[in-house]
Amino acid sequence: MEDIRTRAVHVVNQPPARGSRPLSVPLVQSSAFAFDSASELAEAMAGPDGQYVYSRRGNPTVRALEHTLAGLEGGASAIAFASGMGAISGVLLALLRPGDHVVAQRCLYGGTYASLTDLADRYGIEVTYVSGDEVVEFEAAAGPRTRLLVMETIANPTGQVPDLPGLLAAARRRNVISAVDNSLASPVLCRPIELGADIVLHSTTKYLAGHSDVLGGAAVFADDGLRQEIWPRTVELGSTPDPFAAWLTLRGIPTLPLRMREHCANADVLAGRLAAHPAVTAIHWPWLPAHPSYAVARKVLSGGGGLLSFELAGGREAGRAFVEGVRLARLALSLGGVETLVTHPASTSHRELGAAALAAAGIGAGLVRMSVGIEDPEDLWRDVEQALSGVVLG
Ligand SMILES: *Cc1c(COP(=O)(O)O)cnc(C)c1O
Repeated sequence: MEDIRTRAVHVVNQPPARGSRPLSVPLVQSSAFAFDSASELAEAMAGPDGQYVYSRRGNPTVRALEHTLAGLEGGASAIAFASGMGAISGVLLALLRPGDHVVAQRCLYGGTYASLTDLADRYGIEVTYVSGDEVVEFEAAAGPRTRLLVMETIANPTGQVPDLPGLLAAARRRNVISAVDNSLASPVLCRPIELGADIVLHSTTKYLAGHSDVLGGAAVFADDGLRQEIWPRTVELGSTPDPFAAWLTLRGIPTLPLRMREHCANADVLAGRLAAHPAVTAIHWPWLPAHPSYAVARKVLSGGGGLLSFELAGGREAGRAFVEGVRLARLALSLGGVETLVTHPASTSHRELGAAALAAAGIGAGLVRMSVGIEDPEDLWRDVEQALSGVVLG
């Protein structure tokens, strides 16, 4: 197969015919499609791969995105969604029934955790959380009703990388469907299907689209049978992307490998310098030898990624002062865009948690999360240094 950089540029191009044709993917901004005969229209209603009827069921621009994502992840097929949570909820709701059991990694994206908690509270689905570091934990948790294993390639904000090869193989032995949220690694740094995953989930809002201007999500399937099973449920759910959102996402993808290289290189520079700074007591980035996931990260990732977090000695006050003190980086909740963003989880995304719960989630009161962009690393470091100079050392 061609290199991911080549695929990122060319996989969308499936020229249908000869002669003059657009070089880019056309934006088909239409909700419905017209037919010449009633029987042709009826035939088109058969499944996910027929002619286009109505854009909640399928649209040429959205299908080009699905084809591209399947190509990048090395999957058989994909379904695009209106957001990452649309993809996650869609897959969970489509696959699970009352009485089913799910094993999930403890350090999950907050929205995924909320979705699983809701399924447990309201739909009679049992969820067991494991660290993701040990296969024996999964073996102990799994039983005859276990249907699904849910993990993330790189957890946020701790940078934990679970033992994907071990856990995916264990799930396969037990006929448990595995789903891996690959949003933080992107298919450039890791392709979970190559490691044995059945489903790869994405918030394409993040690195895939990459420009902080569009929401989107996707599920990529190792085997098309799962897409055939899930697709009718997602049509009912209606979490289909608008064609323009799919088009914007496609617009970002050819530069994904270049962007990921810069995100990783910049994070490497900042992580090294932050680790040596007196205001910083700990740094979490899986590409640092001191990180607990370092060994597995070197095995399953081809770079450390663009998300890092660090603990300030000055605690909560220092964390707040830092995110308000940056000038080039912006204070915003998302990640994966070209611009550097910072957040202080203890006062925002995790503000409901008390000190004990924060500690259990691996989040200190002075933790700052940084989504490192593709700016010049020296400009970024100057900004980080001046913001650090304004925080109390604790
Ligand atoms: C942002 C994110 C999501 C949710 O995606 P949305 O596009 O915001 O719905 C899911 N998983 C991870 C790892 C994320 O970072």
